[in-house]
Amino acid sequence: MYYPYFYDPTYILVLIGMILSVAASAHVNSVFSKYSRVRSRLGATGADVASRMLLINGINDVTVRHINGNLTDNYNPMNHTVNLSDTVYGSTSVASLGVACHECGHALQHANGYLPLSIRAAILPVANFGSRLGIPICILGLFLGNAGYTIMNIGIWLFMFAVLFQIVTLPVEFNASHRAVRWLEESSTLDPEELKAVKKVLMAAALTYVAAAAASVLQLLRLLILFGGRRDDR
Ligand SMILES: [Zn+2]
Repeated sequence: MYYPYFYDPTYILVLIGMILSVAASAHVNSVFSKYSRVRSRLGATGADVASRMLLINGINDVTVRHINGNLTDNYNPMNHTVNLSDTVYGSTSVASLGVACHECGHALQHANGYLPLSIRAAILPVANFGSRLGIPICILGLFLGNAGYTIMNIGIWLFMFAVLFQIVTLPVEFNASHRAVRWLEESSTLDPEELKAVKKVLMAAALTYVAAAAASVLQLLRLLILFGGRRDDR
């Protein structure tokens, strides 16, 4: 039996995913903006603290750079750069220091060959392909009669890689935050009160990845309900 793809009851799964993502994003924005107004007692900027964390951990092939935008911070393993946004690079807030050290956490993972990071890099090309074309391929299968069942299964498998990527991202993100908090504590960069604030900011940021992973699992569930397990039923 065929369900029309765009207006079917399983669309609720997509809606739940969207709501989770919007809520997580609103939450991180509000927590980040709250702790962006709390200056750290040390008075060092995100860029200063990031450079120091890299240096003390023996990472000397990574550069700290400024990039435009808000919450666009990232670690780029291709050119070994920690890229810090407008609100992090030159800011002395506890939120900024937390984000700056989180990105350095990724640089440390890269330097130490942290396994989930390597898995993520290995599946990235297929995951990109699957997240863009998995669903269109399933829909294409609908129009191809019996030959379409194989096409639909290929679409589902490709989309599974996109979901797997989102799931493997979770340990990568939580571990980078863990490294950041541990270093900020061990180096006495922040006091216990400031550390509590950093944990809140990084947890809120991690929840956006949890929401994204949940949304992609729900989307996969929908594909399985609509297109999965189909056989020749002439
Ligand atoms: Zn991260």
